Amino acid sequence: MDNQTMYRALGIGREVYEFSRPVLDSLSERFLAIDEIAEFNQLKVLKAMQDAGVAEAHLMGTNGYGYSDIGRDALEKTYAGIFGTEDALVRSQIICGTHALALSLQANLRPGDEILSPVGKPYDTLEEVIGIRKSRGSLSEFGISYREVPLNPDGSFRYEEIRSAIHERTRLAEIQRSKGYSSRESLSPEKIGELIRFLKSVKPDLLCLVDNCYGEFVCREEPSEYGADMLVGSLIKNPGGGLAPVGGYIAGTKDCIENCAVRLSAPGLGKEVGPSLGLNRAFFQGIFLAPSITASAEKAAIFAASLYERLGFPCHPRAESGRNDIIQAIRLGSPEAVLAFCQGIQAASPVDSFVTPEPWEMPGYDAPVIMAAGAFIQGSSIELSADAPMKEPYNVYFQGGLTWPHAKFGIILSVQKLWEKGLVKL
Ligand SMILES: *Cc1c(COP(=O)(O)O)cnc(C)c1O
Repeated sequence: MDNQTMYRALGIGREVYEFSRPVLDSLSERFLAIDEIAEFNQLKVLKAMQDAGVAEAHLMGTNGYGYSDIGRDALEKTYAGIFGTEDALVRSQIICGTHALALSLQANLRPGDEILSPVGKPYDTLEEVIGIRKSRGSLSEFGISYREVPLNPDGSFRYEEIRSAIHERTRLAEIQRSKGYSSRESLSPEKIGELIRFLKSVKPDLLCLVDNCYGEFVCREEPSEYGADMLVGSLIKNPGGGLAPVGGYIAGTKDCIENCAVRLSAPGLGKEVGPSLGLNRAFFQGIFLAPSITASAEKAAIFAASLYERLGFPCHPRAESGRNDIIQAIRLGSPEAVLAFCQGIQAASPVDSFVTPEPWEMPGYDAPVIMAAGAFIQGSSIELSADAPMKEPYNVYFQGGLTWPHAKFGIILSVQKLWEKGLVKL
């Protein structure tokens, strides 16, 4: 049996299959370049694991207080090695990316301090963490203020505005690498480095925190190698490698990480407590696989953009653009097309493929959001997934793919669904 017959058995018609083939053929050189970065990052992870002396005993876990959890400690050493930081906090007790970001802010800010976002509006869920949208328990309730400077329309930094926004109380700059649900460009680690250099030249003790969600292992370097004091992300995105069932990480300076540790547990306890339960093996194996899985997801993003641009939909980033994260925004322009796209991704899933996704009021977001994911881990967006706020201009945000063949199939199936509904011409 050939591949096309298998595709047909899974619902892909000849027309859509034939349409996708030349698009794919045009991408081989780009895919080679992605594989080379994956190779570099694989070695980087391997070296960090070897330097941390990862041993069989580290794959076991503790319970209760989690004293002397040598696996957890070796894992944190591994993360610090990968990101080139003094220390790291990598815990299942950090639930998700938002929690990791909230923790890093709450831990390192004190009443009277101000946060500056020099790259415009932060990720949606941070609006409630900071108190940009009024919310119980926000930083604003604790007397911590917030200010932002947008990017220029061409994506460059407004240096002079940033300079004048920094004052005595400005304690921390929050820099988001990935564009999230905004229409700006995602920032490269180098570009973040330029910004950090400028910020530190204005105020040397300003803490620079980078929201690294979806960015890990896309490039050779990470923003921590360009002077970030804290790098924050979710383990159910890139660095969990699809195997971490929960968790978040913060990598950074010893001082910042200690603040985070005592805030996560309690003053006096810090990093010494926090049982890894049975998760050390999944965390280690996940970070070990993460460079390859991130490469699959990046190939998927480029393939999706290439197909959808050819169908006439504006894509962000453009198909031929370089990447700084694994997110692909596609402007589908209508609720019908968003639904059809998400139904295609859902129908391609290994789990819950028979489910029809529908928009819902998700905590932390201001418009109903539709999510397509038949994932092994709930909400895991390193797995093939798509989400879209149901509002103009009807962008869908596509990401993930634990294996390239699966991601490829999912994207082709999404086109099939749009085609069947008469929403695209091939
Ligand atoms: C996903 C994401 C977050 C929040 O992470 P959750 O795990 O969904 O809470 C924050 N910032 C960015 C840029 C993200 O992509």
